[in-house]
Order: sequence, then structure tokens, then C-alpha cells
Amino acid sequence: TGLPARELAWVASRLAESFNQWFARVPWREYDLVGLSVCFNQLLASLATARRLKKEYPGLPIVFGGSALAPDMTEALAHHAGIDFCICGEGELPLLRLCRFLLQGENEIRLPAGEQAARSEPPRLAASPAVPAKTCQIPHLDHLPVPDYGDYFAELKQVFGPSAFIPVLPVELSRGCWWRRCVFCNLNRQWRGYRAKSGERMARELTVLAQRHRCLDFAFADNALPRRPRERLFHRLANTAQDYRFFAELRATDAKSFPRLARGGLARVQVGIEALSNSLLARLGKGTTVLANVYAMKQAVEAGIALEGNLILEFPGTSQAEINETLAAINLLMPYPPLAPATFFLGADSPVAREPRRFGIRAVHAHPYLRRLLPFSLPFGVLAYRGDRTRQQRLWRPVREALTAWQQAHRQRGGRCGLTWRAADSFLVIRQQRPDGTVLYHRLTSASARIYRRLASPTPLAELCAAFPRFPASELRGFLDELARKGCVFRQDDTYLALATHDKGESI
Ligand code: SF4
Repeated sequence: TGLPARELAWVASRLAESFNQWFARVPWREYDLVGLSVCFNQLLASLATARRLKKEYPGLPIVFGGSALAPDMTEALAHHAGIDFCICGEGELPLLRLCRFLLQGENEIRLPAGEQAARSEPPRLAASPAVPAKTCQIPHLDHLPVPDYGDYFAELKQVFGPSAFIPVLPVELSRGCWWRRCVFCNLNRQWRGYRAKSGERMARELTVLAQRHRCLDFAFADNALPRRPRERLFHRLANTAQDYRFFAELRATDAKSFPRLARGGLARVQVGIEALSNSLLARLGKGTTVLANVYAMKQAVEAGIALEGNLILEFPGTSQAEINETLAAINLLMPYPPLAPATFFLGADSPVAREPRRFGIRAVHAHPYLRRLLPFSLPFGVLAYRGDRTRQQRLWRPVREALTAWQQAHRQRGGRCGLTWRAADSFLVIRQQRPDGTVLYHRLTSASARIYRRLASPTPLAELCAAFPRFPASELRGFLDELARKGCVFRQDDTYLALATHDKGESI
């Protein structure tokens, strides 16, 4: 954790104290079944609760479920942690069947494909990927009831009093990921499907949640907001008088939609930037380019959306040429809000973990942290590996330093964009604040100004030649390359993008 041992011991004792207080407050005897979630770092808290329950209320059945509960974890959880039932994938119908099974005192659960789970036998999956998904899922996400956070708000009031903070409510427009090709990703191990609610249904759900809980801030839990329903939803939201604010995850290829989404209340977005080298992006399976990433960052600034993006560092097999490409891109992107460093980790069951040799990884084994945390082996979370780690740490050091410098420069600018333009009829002025604080101005007149404004989105040279036929291609290319050298334009092959964002309010 990076904490000194004494502070860690203090944190552990405070955690134990609040866990004991919480455990004592819950009327466990009133329940017939306890459900515990497994999503990322909830696993240890859920296991700690299960262990205590098994000790104090051994007859009370426990069901585990959640987005990080994969089928290959259930056996270990059953045999080593005494978990009675595990639900992998969409949980609504399996949980309903499990409740009926427990309430009606039957001694087996009938599963869709004829499988059975008997209480007297070792616990079995209530739903498994082997069972045809459709038979244990509700037919359409629009048929789901609106989530009821009443218990959560009651507990909030009980613990923090009536003037507790107003939380950000999680909402869900889609389940799963339609892309599913990022090689480092293990987000959807438990369920490989993909489906979405309609925009209209989501709008109704937001109205109910806002009215019921008096909340205005929502975070979409989707891997990436689906295009069609999100466009319909945010179009509706833009035309209402509600001041909702949203967080969502989107792909860089969605950048064109940012202004429309911002009008509907999108305030923060996480974009899977991950790399600023085209060959590295291809190896990561992102299906994007550096140009698409740069455009997403620019669009977010112009739309007034706070973009949270990571740069994956130390990915196995990265070359010096890819590091150089990354550093060159960072140099151009310095005027924008910075990306955060995210050191590569090997996720259990990710494509890299399944085919380690393809990525130059020689050996994969359980992570020592997990070995220390759990008394049994569980295919979960992060794995340890042997490959070219030391070389990657050395190669990526300058990128780490550049990211730190980028963050400092952004702070010194007061969080504002350092590259903006303003225009009058026949000319345009670009204001460029360099990382050392000095400010440069570039004045473009007549055709030069029109060409620059034409580069508001990625534009191929051929398209520019068609729009400005009186300039030979070589002259246009020379002009644009000069602007790229000055840091005002981004070039990828023969496609150009103006980097300066339109300043609609600040003074020069
Ligand atoms: S990282 Fe995101 S976009 Fe990529 S496969 Fe995973 S969930 Fe899908």
C-alpha cells in the first residue's frame, strides 16, 4: 500500500472496528439468504463477511454474485470459503429461482438446461455459461424494475444523520462490451453477452430515481455507452429542464458525439486512450489510432467535459520506436488536460493471460499479494508474470517523467487548455502557452485561417486539396507541416487535425 507499518496497523484496526460495528447492527436472524457482491475490490470484504457469518450463523445460506465472479472461481469459493451458492452472469432470474427454492423448502433448484443444484451436495452454480443464456435471463433490459436504493439511503441517514452527503447514483444503460478485443481486459469474464436498454426507458428510470432519492448526479456503470440508445437519451435530456450531471465511459471513436452528450449533461468521461503509439494500440487490440485519441481529447476540452484517460505503461514487448512515438505525441498534447499513468497489470483470464507467449511473457503465476491475502488459490484479479519487465521499466521511465511534467504544466495553467484560437472575419489568432509558462501567438490570415478552421476534425489532405483547389498539394502540405512543427496541428500519415480549441470566453 505504500503506508508505513504503524499506519497500516492503525488503518487495519479502524477497519476491524467499523466492520464489527456494522456486523452487530445487521439483524442477521431476520434473513433467509445473504447476498454478497464480488466486483473488483469487494471480494475481500465479502469473504470477510462470509467467514464471520459462517462462524456465527452457520445455517444462514450465502450467495455470491457480481461482475467479477467468474465460473472458474466458484469451486474454490464453495470448498474453501463455504459459499453456498454462486451466480455468474446476469443474476435476476437465477436469484429469483434461488429464493423460491429456499422459501419453498424444495431440495433442488431446477436450472434451465436440466441441471440441478441440491443443498445436500457441494454447492453448484445457480446459473452457468453452459446453460443457454436466454433461458436464465429476463427477455429485455427494459423489463427490469427501476433499481430501489431505499435501503442504502436509510442506512446513510442512520450512519451520517439527515444532512448526509448526496451520493452519485449508479445507473446502467447496457451490459457487457460490444468491442471485447482489448487484450489486457478481463472485465467480462463472467458473462460474454451484450445488450442495452432503450434510451426512452433510461430517461424514465432517471426521472424516477431523481424524484425518489432527490439526486442529480449519475454514473453510468457501462463498459462503453451504446451509441443508438445513448444518442436518443441525451437528445431527450438536452431538451428538458433537468440539471442532471453524468459520468460515463466511452470509446475514443465516439468523440464526434461529445458536444451532443455534453448538452444532455455529460460532465465527466473516461475514454480508453491507453496508448499514443499506433503499433502499440494495434497490439493492445483497441481498434483506435493516436489521431482518434487526440481528437477525443480535443473534443472533450471543447465540449467542456472532463476527460479521464490512462496511458498503459510497461506493456510487454513495447519497442524503443513506440516509446519515441509516445513521447512525441505527449509533447504535442501538453496543452490539454493530462493523461494518468497506469502500469500494465496482467489480469486473470485476459487475452494476454490466456496467450502469454504471444506477448513475450515466459511464465504466469499467482500474484504474491493474493497468495498472502487468501489462504487458498483463486483465479481472480491480478497475476504475476515473468517477461521483459526490467527492460520495460527502463524504456518507459522517460514517459513517466513526461506525464509528471504534463500534470505540473496543467496545474500551473490553472487547469485551462494551453492552446486556443479566436477569430474575426478574415483572420485567426492562436494562443499557445508553453509548458514553461511563456505564451506565443500565431496569427493566420485569409486562406490560412480558413484552412485551419477546416481542420476542426481529422481531415485528409486530399479533402483539403478539393476544398482549396488554388493551392497545390505540396504547398498545403508544407503549410500544415510547419503548423505541426509549431505544435498547432497533429498529423497522422496524410490526415491533419487542428490542436487549438475554440476559445469562446477567455481573454488573450
Ligand atoms: S477495455 Fe473496455 S472496450 Fe476494451 S474490451 Fe474491455 S470493456 Fe471492452
